Amino acid sequence: MIEITPPVRVRFAPSPTGYLHIGGVRTALFNWLFARHYGGQFILRIEDTDEKRYVPGAADDIMASLRWVGIEWDEGPDIGGPYGPYIQSLRFDQGIYQVYSAQLLESGHAYMSFTTEEELAQLRADAEMRGVKAFRFRGLERDWPLERQRELAATGKPYTIRLKTPLTGQTTFTDLVRGAEGITVQNDQLQDIVLIKTSGMPVYHFAHLVDDHLMRITHVLRAEEWVPSTPYHLLLYQAFGWKPPVFAHLPVILRQDGKGKLSKRKDDVATNRFWERGYLPEAMMNYLALQGWSFDDKTEIMSRDELIERFTIDRVQASPARWNPEKLRDINGIYIRKLAPEDLAERLLPFLAAAGLIGDPPSEAERAYVVRLVPLIHERLEELSEAPGLLEFFFREPRPGPDGYAPASLVPRGLDAPQTAAMLRAAHATLHDLELWTPEALEVALRELCTRLERKPGQLFGALRVAVSGRAVAPPLFDMLAALGRERVLARLDAAIAALG
Ligand code: GLU
Repeated sequence: MIEITPPVRVRFAPSPTGYLHIGGVRTALFNWLFARHYGGQFILRIEDTDEKRYVPGAADDIMASLRWVGIEWDEGPDIGGPYGPYIQSLRFDQGIYQVYSAQLLESGHAYMSFTTEEELAQLRADAEMRGVKAFRFRGLERDWPLERQRELAATGKPYTIRLKTPLTGQTTFTDLVRGAEGITVQNDQLQDIVLIKTSGMPVYHFAHLVDDHLMRITHVLRAEEWVPSTPYHLLLYQAFGWKPPVFAHLPVILRQDGKGKLSKRKDDVATNRFWERGYLPEAMMNYLALQGWSFDDKTEIMSRDELIERFTIDRVQASPARWNPEKLRDINGIYIRKLAPEDLAERLLPFLAAAGLIGDPPSEAERAYVVRLVPLIHERLEELSEAPGLLEFFFREPRPGPDGYAPASLVPRGLDAPQTAAMLRAAHATLHDLELWTPEALEVALRELCTRLERKPGQLFGALRVAVSGRAVAPPLFDMLAALGRERVLARLDAAIAALG
């Protein structure tokens, strides 16, 4: 059991470079669960110092996506907090990073590098020619006195600020997921990475670290891809003389076939797409919690509160997680079936409205109608977005003819069209006069009618099903008739009888 000593302050620090990848939500969720489990704080910070990759509106999408899943933050761009602002470009405007990069220059842990992109490319190419496997850049200026660097900078020559990585020794860090015994790299395997770009903007390595320190972050739970960068971060903490946070690198999520990472290019990973397809946020949270964490070997369905209570870092696995859309669907179905019919109806309204089946906002009558329809599909539904397709005929008249169902499909085996029309006419009369419009009463009356007409139940029920739904496969007949209501049923029978000639 890993001991976690409070206070705990963690953060999710996405870059607004597009919609939020569902894997990002997993990372946010683990941070949030960790914070809630230990009674700490969860901070949201927007890391937008990469001007080239910045996408307007992405930060809003990120926040909406997190909120949708049910992750709420204690400090963040929209709500502020004691260590704000929580958007890096605003922190840059306040000169926060500049103070700290100046500090590293003064202390000799960083230097101004005047090597241009072109020169760097040339150096790299030369190294390759010489058969050097891994090119590790170290600028000449690392050995210059700061005065000399400043003089050249004063001439207007552009420069980056680079970390002066030690040439000897080694750097070690421990990771709560990947080994308490520590991960060690030899410093001569590192290079002098850029901290501040020629534009004056800090890169991720520098900005996130200054912010984590100033925001009193105690534990950094982030994607595994940052493991190779962590030694640089340790060196930076040492250079500043700051205490580093505790690291926990979370496993990657592989595609379902295990071939490569779940990717923006190949997979449906935009978080808002899961909303569109009708995943319930509570199902999504449950499923995502299992992407790299488990409670035991068997428990899968866990509520938000259970997840919070049970989430510990020692149950986070180091091996990759595997995306499984079928499992997600299953879990969603389980959560859908747990919903009260009124609740499910409420959640279906936006989907039915988007499909144009009801108004937006829906009327009271439409709402009540949807509540009545829910039991007909409740057991079968796995994604809310399936509802419009399943329920369409409850809202739109199925039309016999070229744009609708084939009138011939009304005719059951053993009968011809005139016989079918006569049978449906008799059913029309029975239903017209029926007193109680309930599934039970409908069943009794229609079975009696079969006996009276000497028709097999399959013949009458099959024809009725097609007449009222336009489909051969539909929800149970009597429930369907009851939900449709007498008026709709009779009108549809009229249309079917007319189509039979
Ligand atoms: N901005 C970084 C990203 O989006 C954050 C990584 C971290 O959590 O440190 O990947």
